[in-house]
Amino acid sequence: MIIVLKPHSSEKSIQSLVELLLSFGVKVQRNNGVDYTVLALIGDTADINVAPIQQSDIVHKVIRVQEPFKRANRLFHLEDSVIKVGDNTIGSDTFTVIAGPCSVESEEQMMTVAKVARESGAHFLRGGAFKPRSSPYSFQGLGREGLDILKTVGKETGLGIVSEIMSMDDVELFHDTVDIIQVGARNMQNFSMLKELGKVDKPILLKRGLSATIEEWLMSAEYIMVNGNERVILCERGIRTFETYTRNTLDIGAVPVVKKLSHLPVLVDPSHATGIWWMVEPLSKAAVVAGADGVMLEVHPDPENAMSDGAQSLKPAKFASLMRELEILARTQGKKIIDKKETVTWLK
Ligand code: PEP
Ligand code: MN
Repeated sequence: MIIVLKPHSSEKSIQSLVELLLSFGVKVQRNNGVDYTVLALIGDTADINVAPIQQSDIVHKVIRVQEPFKRANRLFHLEDSVIKVGDNTIGSDTFTVIAGPCSVESEEQMMTVAKVARESGAHFLRGGAFKPRSSPYSFQGLGREGLDILKTVGKETGLGIVSEIMSMDDVELFHDTVDIIQVGARNMQNFSMLKELGKVDKPILLKRGLSATIEEWLMSAEYIMVNGNERVILCERGIRTFETYTRNTLDIGAVPVVKKLSHLPVLVDPSHATGIWWMVEPLSKAAVVAGADGVMLEVHPDPENAMSDGAQSLKPAKFASLMRELEILARTQGKKIIDKKETVTWLK
């Protein structure tokens, strides 16, 4: 249940209303927005009589939340969530770009990509150290060594690091190494791991499961949030359909739906959605105008010889030219990729 308060309600009246609500045996989460203060009731609200609440002078309206997700629900947080990660913010007027290869292969490879990412204005460097591969015979990632490389390259270039966690046992390791912990599509419903990530003080990039509905995806976000970590970033990465031309089908429609249902930032990953490098450009552009808060793009200095996902990886020059176009498009949507012009050669 959501209680929207009238603007300029006195602190004393808010406190007495909160006390009344607590007496119903629920938790009360208070969100102070720019225009409205919202009290969100968390717990079993089915038997609560709304009449005495509605009678309060400071109550604007009482809304019963139909959806099973509460903390991720936009009704609980009317404005877009803005997630602070180091010097960067994700959400609101920023169009975030996370770029990097599928797998960390070497320091040299990561440094080459990191340089182009930084010079083009990207905010974060991605790279998988623990890889979820369909075949046990495929490259499984460099593991801890990969994380060490990411840490070194991140430090040297000033880029934030994003990498995928595959096991609950690695939560502490990831906490100490990366800036954003990625939960891959295959682990979107690893509920034990989601609960653990709820206790971590690091933002979580939660990818949509291969066959997950939007509601299931938001319920996974809820698992993290209800356990204490509100910094969840969603990422649409394509879903499995009958179509075989592309690796998955990018559900671009999920972007406006999720933006309507939830206050959490939503990114799009056109690389895994399509599996084809030349589709990454048009679908990145589509992501901007669909209202996404950013993109995650696979970039590799030598895609032909990549250890994984070469076919969907952009070469550095292609990535750099795409960034210019995305910046222009983002500005038409009231967003921007590049904040600090001095760091980006082509904007000088
Ligand atoms: C990835 O980002 O490297 C990855 C494996 O993506 P997904 O979980 O979306 O398949
Ligand atoms: Mn990949």
